[in-house]
Amino acid sequence: MKARFWGTRGSIATPGPATMKYGGNTPCMEVRAGCDIFVFDAGTGLRGLGIELLNEFTSQPITIHLFISHTHWDHIQGFPFFIPAYQKQHRILVYGPPGRARSLEQIFRTQLDSDYHPIALNDMGSNIVIQEIREPMRVGNVSIDFMYLNHPAMCLGYKISHEGSSIVYATDNEPYEFTLPQIDSQTGPVGFPRFLDEKLNQFIDGADLYIGDAQFTSEEYQYKKGWGHTPLDFCVNTAVAAHVGKLALFHHDPFHDDAFIDGMVTSANAQITALGSSVECFGAAEGMEVTV
Ligand SMILES: [Zn+2]
Repeated sequence: MKARFWGTRGSIATPGPATMKYGGNTPCMEVRAGCDIFVFDAGTGLRGLGIELLNEFTSQPITIHLFISHTHWDHIQGFPFFIPAYQKQHRILVYGPPGRARSLEQIFRTQLDSDYHPIALNDMGSNIVIQEIREPMRVGNVSIDFMYLNHPAMCLGYKISHEGSSIVYATDNEPYEFTLPQIDSQTGPVGFPRFLDEKLNQFIDGADLYIGDAQFTSEEYQYKKGWGHTPLDFCVNTAVAAHVGKLALFHHDPFHDDAFIDGMVTSANAQITALGSSVECFGAAEGMEVTV
């Protein structure tokens, strides 16, 4: 499989000279597996992917499997600007979790309401099917599994597997260990938050590439508890414990410029070395391709 990052920035697009290296577009990752095209999240990076797909396929019909982690702005804002969605020969299959009180399709319709965008979902032109994902699925000989993450929205992490290789895209997740009330042994099970975090480790276990939320340094995280993101050292520990091949630090904070993220990558690699691990760690950068 070949993965390509089209957007790596969390929360809000952050273009400019200070973010040239890692990129300013919000989350979007393309995976090619066999002849199929998979996309994870529809942040502002999706726009560039759409242009590139039309360059590659010209007028040939394209089928795109688009998996949405959750519907916070930074993960859907590119959808109205995805040009293949406006051309009738293409098929866009959108999968994701429901919202708290609305279906995934209702959320997409609302995003394209005339108060926000000039063209409604039904008028976009391509064959768009929006469905909530309820069980692991297969597309040809590619399998896609998912698990719910800990975020202030219904949020999914995905695992895509093909011919013995796997990629896990699990961003916008906060450790339960830091967010669930600490219950002492007199009144309740102490280990439950860790038990829940361990579920993610099991999901990731052995992945060739893990795209992990590393938005904050550990120091910053102390002031950002409950925001739904992971401190860097926890992300690294998870990758090491799950014996992944490669760790892509992802969902870069809008306040972090390239030099700051370079520092986070250095710190992550020092931690990996100290743990005696061989995980290959890098900062996800717009335009970067990773083959597994
Ligand atoms: Zn996000």
